[in-house]
Amino acid sequence: MKYLNILEEKLERKATFTEKEAFTVMWSEHCGYSHTKRYIKQLPLISLESGNAGLVSLNEDYALAFKIESHNHPSAIEPYNGAATGVGGIIRDVLAMGARPTAILDSLHMHKIIDGIIEGIADYGNSIGVPTVGGELRISDAYRYNPLVNVMAAGIVKHKDIIPSKAMSKGQVIIVFGGATGRDGIHGASFASEDLTGEKANKLSIQVGDPFAEKMLIEAFLRMVEEGLVEGAQDLGAGGVLSATSELVAKGGFGAVIHLERLPLREPDMNPVEILISESQERMAVITSPEKAERVLNIVKDHLLYGAILGEVTDDGIYHAMYKGETILKIPAQLLSNAPEEEIYDFFSESLPKNVSITFSDVDASQVYTQYDHMVGTDTVLLPGYGPAVMRIKGTDIFYSLLTHSRADIGDKSPYWGSFIAVLESVRKTLSVGGEPFGITDCINYGDPDVEPMGLSAMMKGLKDACEFSNVGVASGNASLYNTNKGIPIPPTMVIGMVGKVKKVVKPKKGDIYLIGWEDFSLEREKILWGEIRKQVSKGNFVISSTRYDKLTYLKNLNLKLPPLKHSPIHQLVVVIGNNVRSDLPIRKI
Ligand code: ADP
Ligand code: MG
Ligand code: MG
Ligand code: MG
Ligand code: MG
Repeated sequence: MKYLNILEEKLERKATFTEKEAFTVMWSEHCGYSHTKRYIKQLPLISLESGNAGLVSLNEDYALAFKIESHNHPSAIEPYNGAATGVGGIIRDVLAMGARPTAILDSLHMHKIIDGIIEGIADYGNSIGVPTVGGELRISDAYRYNPLVNVMAAGIVKHKDIIPSKAMSKGQVIIVFGGATGRDGIHGASFASEDLTGEKANKLSIQVGDPFAEKMLIEAFLRMVEEGLVEGAQDLGAGGVLSATSELVAKGGFGAVIHLERLPLREPDMNPVEILISESQERMAVITSPEKAERVLNIVKDHLLYGAILGEVTDDGIYHAMYKGETILKIPAQLLSNAPEEEIYDFFSESLPKNVSITFSDVDASQVYTQYDHMVGTDTVLLPGYGPAVMRIKGTDIFYSLLTHSRADIGDKSPYWGSFIAVLESVRKTLSVGGEPFGITDCINYGDPDVEPMGLSAMMKGLKDACEFSNVGVASGNASLYNTNKGIPIPPTMVIGMVGKVKKVVKPKKGDIYLIGWEDFSLEREKILWGEIRKQVSKGNFVISSTRYDKLTYLKNLNLKLPPLKHSPIHQLVVVIGNNVRSDLPIRKI
């Protein structure tokens, strides 16, 4: 364990075996955010409630919950289950806020289309009845050993139903429910924080997904929310019972007593430490008052799930895990959930790279997204293939857009500009479908911050500066570090998930096709282009913003070939479809 010295200094004694196991999980990069926490704090953060997913208000009744998550390491070892449980995990983060999950998006970087990953995402999403409405597919050999599987989910919650992710008072009980607990995923969190070479790459640490249990979990949990039974909640993800229950109480300044023998097991011979850190999927922790517990457990049973009152909230700040009356772990909850923070570095700007060092190959993403059910729920207004998806809330006039986008080709040369341009292009895309950007969820995918700390710093500064430039805040995010193989890192890959409020939906239409804008890039012009996109959309023209607009399936289907463009890593161009389109910017009819 990397931080053993720090731990033993704080404890003022040697750590026990169980403590080492527990802190290996909780102070892993995946759970503890040692290298990124301080950078994240510098971002313009806007979530209504800090929790498992970000929250932004849609109107006086509704809020949108959204977050992105990485499942890179598991998907490298076991593509199908790694990717499937990536979907399951992010859905539960959205659910934990009290929100009904409405949409999934995936951002995939890989050296070729890996069928297992696509099938894992498609099967899981399709089975739980949540449409996969968008994403991105980037093919480059730079991801041969470290494919990136980032999944974003969104959900809708009424303001009055928003669930905090913390305990509120002594005496509240902690209920864990969902699928039964097995040995799957043990040490998953620490595995996700290491280089992917050698014996660590172990199939035992990969979780197995059961989407049908997840569907029941969603319905059971939302029923509890509807009946006012949930006072706090957190999904069980990395670090299992230990992480979810200790974070819930630590965040409220409380402690807990947990009785591990009460947890329903799939493998009856599991030892207490295994029960504590198993990452079995499809489980949630709920905080409620003792008098509501029986009703909660009845709902669990009605949905054919397992559940138990695992313990209760205490006010001594101590996380006390017991097994059949014996103490297994007794440690301050705050110590568990406050991993050591690494030093951060200042990055000062650099000029935009003149060219890129990796290029993504020309693939038609439709061969991937047609495998996803993107219509289930019938709230998808703008389908995959045009850029962002547009969704509506049934029975209202509320529409919102969703997208994922990244520019690792630029990030490989300049991590700063890779982040920065990904944000700018996300704004363009959001404006193109009639949206106004109102929140970002970012996924930091990086190599080894101990070997190359400045790259991470640059990547985070690029995100911060671009958010400030665009006046869009960050509501949630995720970090995946140590994406290396034999010490060789992936290109710094900042994936942006962006949500927008859509006032007026513009559907794809036939008409004349124009290119508006410039074939190269200068930052001073960016907001002029944004103004132009708004103007074209307000006139009812259909605008497409794409980094690969010369490859757009939509235009290919119209049998249209765009003229070759000037060689430049970034264009400041949009395609506009309409009749008699006019613009003060450079405009070309095709
Ligand atoms: P969970 O365990 O629920 O999946 P994480 O451990 O991934 O959540 O993240 C913990 C919290 O930190 C969340 O509220 C998340 O939104 C926030 N967070 C993590 N990474 C980022 C980031 N890069 N930018 C903004 N917020 C982040
Ligand atoms: Mg976490
Ligand atoms: Mg969570
Ligand atoms: Mg999660
Ligand atoms: Mg996470």
